[in-house]
Amino acid sequence: MSVTTIPLTPLLGASLEELKTWVQEQGQPAYRGKQVHDWIYHKGVRSLADISVFSKQWRSQIAEIPIGRSTLHHRSVAPDGTVKYLLRLTDGQIIETVGIPSFKWGKKRENSHSLDRLTVCVSTQVGCPMACDFCATGKGGYQRNLQRHEIVDQVLTVQEDFQQRVSNIVFMGMGEPLLNTDNVLGAIRCLNQDVGIGQRNLTVSTVGIPGRIRQLAQHHLQITLAVSLHAPNQALREELIPSAHHYKITNLLAECREYVEITGRRVSFEYILLAGFNDLPEHAAELAKCLRGFQSHVNLIPYNPISEVDYQRPSRERIQAFEQVLKQHHIAVSVRYSRGLEADAACGQLRASKK
Ligand code: SAH
Repeated sequence: MSVTTIPLTPLLGASLEELKTWVQEQGQPAYRGKQVHDWIYHKGVRSLADISVFSKQWRSQIAEIPIGRSTLHHRSVAPDGTVKYLLRLTDGQIIETVGIPSFKWGKKRENSHSLDRLTVCVSTQVGCPMACDFCATGKGGYQRNLQRHEIVDQVLTVQEDFQQRVSNIVFMGMGEPLLNTDNVLGAIRCLNQDVGIGQRNLTVSTVGIPGRIRQLAQHHLQITLAVSLHAPNQALREELIPSAHHYKITNLLAECREYVEITGRRVSFEYILLAGFNDLPEHAAELAKCLRGFQSHVNLIPYNPISEVDYQRPSRERIQAFEQVLKQHHIAVSVRYSRGLEADAACGQLRASKK
């Protein structure tokens, strides 16, 4: 994995080695770097002044050096237990993060021991410039890329709130991750090596930026790449996704094939189901043809309503019929009913506003 040249402060995102070097530059022994690492990643300290194992004198010297934590602006819980956080960044911008707990079968929800997985959906940008027609994030425009520490902070925030280790991370919040590759790669390194989350439990979702999937493949990560395809042909895709005008679906799929060859990991394709638009059996057959012989998995996402557009979610029968056609063509497929719908925390509904 390549080393990014991001300045060390804010400290969040820095590796153990970087922190050891940093403390030595401050005239301290290297083992203090391990202590800083422990306190910022595992004890959740928000100010260096609170690291009680350090001398008062050194604490006062380093008190102003930022760790890079956000502040909680708003928190809401959906009936299914999904928690949506609005986080305020140091420049006042607000982003959304979602914590999605899943529970083991046959155990009571109230029993905290039954929590099976805790997934965090992280944002990578403030807003999004891609302006996909069906997605709330793009409707609010684009402000800026998130920095490495601002991505890592989201995971620590959810972990601390649930008092439970995060098991999975999906880069599916606000923004387009591959327009912010350096910070996303820096955050992945940190979440994997410093926070301790396995690469195979990380998923990066992209609508596709020419050349960037190939670039990502060169890092040989064990993460899952999810590609927002949403249509089985160029014409239909262009109607939904403005950037598709500059990126032919055939080129996108060719890059995905390269990704599989280089990394040995299968690619996930996300396909939003919009009633009467891209959910017909012939669309499913066309999709199957695109993906023939491809090491892939299709995630069907029934549309989650947003106010600006009048697409409809297809009926359960239509969804099942679409899935069936893919199965008949031996395409691995699952339907993803998004969590957190009632709190506007589901896929495509993130717009950094309270509900
Ligand atoms: N920009 C990235 C990641 C963010 S979106 C991407 O496009 O992949 C995460 C997923 O939610 C994408 O597959 C996206 O297309 C989907 N999505 C967006 N709006 C949606 C909506 N209204 N209903 C259901 N899924 C939606």
